[in-house]
Amino acid sequence: MTRLAVAAPPAPELAIAGGSERFPVHRIYCIGRNYAEHAREMGAVPDKGTPVFFLKPADSVVALPGPVAYPPATTDLHHEVELVVALARGGRDIAQAEALDCVYGYAIGLDLTRRDLQAAAKAKGLPWDTGKSFEQAAPIGPIHPVAAVGHPGSGAITLEVNGQPRQHGDLADLLFPVAEIIALLSRLFTLAPGDLIFTGTPAGVGPLQPGDRFVARIDGLGEVAGSIA
Ligand code: MN
Repeated sequence: MTRLAVAAPPAPELAIAGGSERFPVHRIYCIGRNYAEHAREMGAVPDKGTPVFFLKPADSVVALPGPVAYPPATTDLHHEVELVVALARGGRDIAQAEALDCVYGYAIGLDLTRRDLQAAAKAKGLPWDTGKSFEQAAPIGPIHPVAAVGHPGSGAITLEVNGQPRQHGDLADLLFPVAEIIALLSRLFTLAPGDLIFTGTPAGVGPLQPGDRFVARIDGLGEVAGSIA
């Protein structure tokens, strides 16, 4: 029998704002229903009882600005603009008071979602993977180091599509703030340098079509633009 050769896949990475350094991506964690208004629009009762965590493959990152491929097997691709946390350090059982010390920086990202597949999975009590985890499901702009932007705890987070406003919220309205998300995740997983965390999306999610152009903004992080190819 001839053994097949396996080529090493390219390591996923993102740009770091203000230089030529790259941020190596380890894992992508996400929290769902983290703004009360968005939880309501999805038919859920917002509560802080049990956070909803899920993951995307590390190689689902795609750098913004730039084109993003419309994925297969859906007719209802949705945008979810989110603050993305990039970790420089990790660990287990991280205290909330020390959690922000693990943060390398912040970026603007889209938690792209095949809403029809997610809705079908939800209806059957099945996992969300086919709705959330696919190629190019995580478009993300450059990572802004904490040294440059601090820790954004309030300020507008918005998304417009083809010049029309779609999503709007304020970082101050996160049900689970960044430090609490890190502390909670570190009880479930060993966090590591290179991990990214999508922190949830504000109200106004909706469909994207091939040819659409979007601009996502977060106060303090500027804006990133992209298009659906
Ligand atoms: Mn999301």
